Amino acid sequence: MDEAAHPHPTPAPPFEQAPPTAVGEPEVPGESVMSDADTMSTDDPAPGDPGAGAGESAGAWVTVDDPPGGGPGESDSAPAGSPEALRILSEVFGYDSFRGDQGAIIDHVAGGGDAVVLMPTGGGKSLCYQIPSLLRPGTGIVVSPLIALMADQVAALESLGIRAAFLNSSLDVDEARAVEAAFEAGELDLLYMAPERLVLERTRALLRRGHVSLFAIDEAHCVSQWGHDFRRDYLGLSLLAEEFPQIPRIALTATATRATHEELTERLRMGRARHFVSSFDRPNIQYRIVPKDQARKQLMDFIAGEHSGEAGIVYCLSRKSVDAVAQALDARGIPALPYHAGMDAADRAANQARFLHEDGIVMVATIAFGMGIDKPDVRFVAHLDLPKSIEGYYQETGRAGRDGLAATAWMAYGLGDVVNQRRLIDSGEGSAEFQRSQRAHLDAMLALCETVDCRRVQLLRYFGQESEPCGNCDTCLNPPRTWEATIAAQKLLSALIRLDRERGQQFGSGQVIDVLLGRDNPRSAQSRHEELSVWGVGAELSEKQWRTVIRQLMAADIVAAAGEYNVLVPGPRATGVLRGEEIVHLRDDPEPARASRRSRSASGAGGARASAADGLEGADRELFEALRDWRTETAREKKIPPYMVFSDATLVGIVEARPTLIGALGTVSGVGLKKRAEYGEAILTVVAEAAAGE
Ligand SMILES: [Zn+2]
Repeated sequence: MDEAAHPHPTPAPPFEQAPPTAVGEPEVPGESVMSDADTMSTDDPAPGDPGAGAGESAGAWVTVDDPPGGGPGESDSAPAGSPEALRILSEVFGYDSFRGDQGAIIDHVAGGGDAVVLMPTGGGKSLCYQIPSLLRPGTGIVVSPLIALMADQVAALESLGIRAAFLNSSLDVDEARAVEAAFEAGELDLLYMAPERLVLERTRALLRRGHVSLFAIDEAHCVSQWGHDFRRDYLGLSLLAEEFPQIPRIALTATATRATHEELTERLRMGRARHFVSSFDRPNIQYRIVPKDQARKQLMDFIAGEHSGEAGIVYCLSRKSVDAVAQALDARGIPALPYHAGMDAADRAANQARFLHEDGIVMVATIAFGMGIDKPDVRFVAHLDLPKSIEGYYQETGRAGRDGLAATAWMAYGLGDVVNQRRLIDSGEGSAEFQRSQRAHLDAMLALCETVDCRRVQLLRYFGQESEPCGNCDTCLNPPRTWEATIAAQKLLSALIRLDRERGQQFGSGQVIDVLLGRDNPRSAQSRHEELSVWGVGAELSEKQWRTVIRQLMAADIVAAAGEYNVLVPGPRATGVLRGEEIVHLRDDPEPARASRRSRSASGAGGARASAADGLEGADRELFEALRDWRTETAREKKIPPYMVFSDATLVGIVEARPTLIGALGTVSGVGLKKRAEYGEAILTVVAEAAAGE
């Protein structure tokens, strides 16, 4: 029974030689890419959130596997951070301690050093340049490709009392002049702009007239030519090293392969920088990949059973399936909205705003969505189609649980995914080298799907980080059984070869399975398949089991799909299997099992909690709900998302503290001076009213 220890036949993911996916690639062939800002992804949590889940690290190319920190507000074992930096963290952002490398990075940059920061989504990257900008005289210039999100980022900073502004094409001439004047007058702490604006001679002249405290280059992987988000404009940023050599630069990204790291260091001329590489583990995310079997029903059961009433994102490959799935969810009473590049911009923006501003909306989207969404309380990310690469999967799933509370990354995956993705690559454009790299990406993704080992171990290994089995993924929680499938594989390959040689026929999986099972159908009758030696040789397995076998053999390149009709043919590794030189181990797809919330919170590595309010009962629960109602109302009045008022975790902190004095509110994690002044009285009133009603 302890067969799970068998090595899986699929090769380990190719780490070094895997340049990421296409450059400016549309979500499905034939679809055009959206405007730049819309297709980008970012990974900073909302300002004011020190981030969660980031582990610790060492500098220059080295990563250590320290246990990751817990949720926001919990202390972390890395104490760095000058007293002045800690004062700002507490007074402005409302937190008592830095997590992971934050303190060390802030000290280094505030002291005038350059830094390259690789930190996962939710790790708290933005604080690494926001606090040095407040510590150093002058204005911190933040270079970001996410024009569409700058207004939100600035609003969030202003809600903390930070003087921030942005310069981009959404401003009219007068507005832009006012921002420029404020910069020159030294009235800004932070100024956001896109790279294409920064490299203009006019902008550089402006910067020389004012006082720049630092340059923060966000989404720095965009400078990497083979990266999945390459932006030509980023290449121009190397001039900062020449023209402003005395001003510290900090480059940040959540994309983590070593190739990208090296390339961005070179292209941004960060040769003197100190490197901070965090653990890319997101311990609060539970990874689960289930065999696809009526995917939509599986999705609805998953949401209804585990995440009812919670916010989530469902990714689909095509626009058509986005629309269909959104409708199907809505019909089941799960509030869902579609988002894809085929919708008009106003509808997209409206749906995005509802997702951000309302609680419990499920966004059904193509990969065009995600991009810089700062929503911290996304409780699940579901994939109904296979992502093209592990980088893509990691980024998309990373949008769950940015608040550090428990979240689920769920995917349904089946034979059709393998066939479709292989076909997309084979029929796609691009050089042979490009196709090879896409195949390597897909193979690594398939290996993750078919692994019998811990998914997190495999995911992190892809990013060059070794770890121990996590206890919070499906293969850890419910280890799949493996079996020796060499003979089954030989039977299947023999069937393909006999059909081809003796009948000149090639078929898709359905007909091949019928031959293996010896099941009559008109096509078999017409071609006298029952006379073949392979007729019925596979009757020991069910049709469903054969589908599982074919999917795994295809993922392992022992079987391949060919031609317009995706007929099955022996794959590159078939010969070794047929000769018996290669032993095949496959996994049994486990029966659908559901990890309950409670068991997840108990088993969640790294201190993930089940959900912000899960542990609250009775009067505490009532107070939490009252605070949530107040937050919804306040957010609506201010026209900002509720989490920009306070996060769920902060509301729980208020419930636990039950403050009766303004001063006591200051001890709650996530409440800085500005918010205490702004919301303090209202919070005390809600708390007092709840106490009176008990
Ligand atoms: Zn695991």
